[in-house]
Amino acid sequence: MHEHVSNYLDQYNVTETARRFLSQAQRMYVDGTWVEAETGETMEVYEPSTATLLTHIPSGTVGDVDRAVAAARSAFEDGDWARMTPRDRERIMHRIANLIDDNAQTIAEIETVDNGKAIIGCLDADVGGSVETLHYMAGWPTKIEGAIRSVSTPGQHFAYTLKEPVGVVGAIVPWNWPFNMAMWKIAAPLAAGCTIVIKPAQQTSLSLLYFMELCEQAGLPKGVLNVVTGRGSSVGQHLAAHPGVAKVSFTGSTEVGRTVGKAAMEHLAHVTLELGGKSPMVVFEDADIERVVNATQASVFFNAGQVCSAGSRMYVHEAVYDDVVQAVADRAQAMKLAPGLDPKSEMGPVISQQQFESIGNYLQLGEQEGAEVVCGGHTVDGPGYFIQPTVFGRTDNSMRIVQEEIFGPVLVAQSFANEDEAVRLANDNEYGLAASVFTSDVSRAHRVVPRIQAGTVWVNTHDLIESCMPFGGYKNSGIGKDLGPEQLDHFLETKTVWIEL
Ligand code: NAD
Repeated sequence: MHEHVSNYLDQYNVTETARRFLSQAQRMYVDGTWVEAETGETMEVYEPSTATLLTHIPSGTVGDVDRAVAAARSAFEDGDWARMTPRDRERIMHRIANLIDDNAQTIAEIETVDNGKAIIGCLDADVGGSVETLHYMAGWPTKIEGAIRSVSTPGQHFAYTLKEPVGVVGAIVPWNWPFNMAMWKIAAPLAAGCTIVIKPAQQTSLSLLYFMELCEQAGLPKGVLNVVTGRGSSVGQHLAAHPGVAKVSFTGSTEVGRTVGKAAMEHLAHVTLELGGKSPMVVFEDADIERVVNATQASVFFNAGQVCSAGSRMYVHEAVYDDVVQAVADRAQAMKLAPGLDPKSEMGPVISQQQFESIGNYLQLGEQEGAEVVCGGHTVDGPGYFIQPTVFGRTDNSMRIVQEEIFGPVLVAQSFANEDEAVRLANDNEYGLAASVFTSDVSRAHRVVPRIQAGTVWVNTHDLIESCMPFGGYKNSGIGKDLGPEQLDHFLETKTVWIEL
């Protein structure tokens, strides 16, 4: 650990447990054992607010994935998990959720140091949301059921369906919500009775590794959940392509999602892809401006804009365009940029040098494309990967900053004249993850919602997410759903049974 990171931890008084965990040599978790990569190789991990070395993680190999899949297969076919009653599965899952709750501060500190995000939002959304997801999915095992069918085939028959776990799940998660996304990927398959091999993003593996200590305490049998850290191009690719994996569950960029989907289809695995977005916020002339401003802060400026469903494209009716854009820019400028551990921080740094440069390039591109810089527009001089919250005005849909996912605290805004134009502009994008509509006219809301091509549409808010509500994209934003009973279904096979009496 670089002394700048150590000083940072001292400055904000992190818990003893978090400090112990962050200082120890990191290992992966395979078949109930803490292991190094088979080659002993490691990768560097950087702390984003100081841009200095935090720790090393094992650089897993193809062989490590093979071992993890074999462990998961064995746990699925004949381990304690396979024999466990649904009620006992529920109890273990609730126990894990309670342990997260008991250790929320430690997890939030580890996540904040690893990812850079502001700790207040992390405690509430990342950790609190994860507890809720595990409890919600823990309610399902005793309620998974098939159906008796009234068949008419001549003779006497008893016919029914059974719901069975699909098998070993290969899960791959991104770095923007490392802990929360991992829980989205873990909770539903555990409820279904599957076993899992999960690969965290190489930038942010630590909270998941700490979580495995809690799973051990909760009594999760060996082999049920295996964590292999390392690169996407080796560990991730091999996991998606592994014939022992029955279901691939991926969250990340659209580009990598395509590769992962192809690899999964080669061995005909089931696949869910939760991908990128460039979600529109459509603001009509009768909108409550305060709600628009709050929603913008809670989506495109939350988590430094590294939010898949961020409302990063705003379309505002021409009658209120100037007022709305100014109000949003005022709020953005008032946000406190500070290292994530600072309890007053409203926006931490972005994840990495690479992301910092990529967003910086988009900020320059916006000016080159002729957009008006209403606020921000620059990266912040170091240390750390901080970006000014930025609003580009007077944009149009031909600009790359309007069409492409920037994945930073950058809002692009333009005006429209009527409802049809608003819908056309909102749908004119390759992505279809989410959208929001702001209006006080309930008829208009109901008219517009079905016309928007997106997996989630919010009215008069943006980015509300809860475990009982399915979340997933249309168009290039993905295939399938996370959360809700819809996600559980992705981890279940239906067996048809006929008995001739
Ligand atoms: P990414 O696609 O670069 O990486 C995601 C994961 O895939 C990482 O674990 C990475 O190591 C792994 N990976 C990389 N190459 C791989 C390969 N060839 N085969 C298998 N795995 C590979 O995405 P990211 O930069 O970590 O995350 C940001 C992206 O995730 C954004 O596009 C964002 O919109 C998206 N995202 C979507 C959702 C959603 O629910 N739709 C949620 C969060 C993030």
